[in-house]
Amino acid sequence: MVECGCMKSWWDLGEGYGFDGNELALHRIECPFCEEEGNFTLVHHEEKKKPNGQKVLNFDTYKCGSCAGFIMVLWSASSYSGGLHAYRVLPWPQRTTQAPEHWPSDVQRFWLQAQRSLEDENWDAAAVMARSALQVALRHSKAVGDNLKEEINDLALKGILPPLMKEWSHEIRELGNDSAHPKPNQDPTTDNDAKDIVEFMDFTMTYLYNLPKQILEYRKRRKRK
Ligand SMILES: [Zn+2]
Repeated sequence: MVECGCMKSWWDLGEGYGFDGNELALHRIECPFCEEEGNFTLVHHEEKKKPNGQKVLNFDTYKCGSCAGFIMVLWSASSYSGGLHAYRVLPWPQRTTQAPEHWPSDVQRFWLQAQRSLEDENWDAAAVMARSALQVALRHSKAVGDNLKEEINDLALKGILPPLMKEWSHEIRELGNDSAHPKPNQDPTTDNDAKDIVEFMDFTMTYLYNLPKQILEYRKRRKRK
């Protein structure tokens, strides 16, 4: 699912974007305390119906069967017969456990390791993984060259990478190189540099994978009308 910025009211939850089905996909929800998935029992339920409409917002409290922690889930099914629903959970896991499903699997793997290295404060590892995620993503975009420097320049020349993205791709490459090929006694990667570089990588993935998918979904929706 691509989250879009089009939700202007909580009554839009589950309208047009979401997961399959009219019921809450509890198996998708991960316990923020013990990381167990879908092992919940409902302990409280309230709902609010839209005035003059069919739309219902569900306010549920669930208890984790593994660690006895609690989560609050706000969820709603689409008001038309599209068979979609969406939800928000509080609290959410502080650990990143998965990459967006529509990315190539090797991009997902390196991206996830970059995020988790940040969360574990392994700054050198985060920089190296961000560099690897970038390189494999550029290769999926058919970059040509003997090394990452040439591959970045190739995609910039073809107009696939805009000028600003070319610049920060080289920053990711250089910071990753420092940690991948260290000189004796060189300074370690700082937390700020690692965080910035991972954020640049995130923007690149948004540009290469999320925006094209969002445009495709927009056009499909327009065509149906
Ligand atoms: Zn739990």
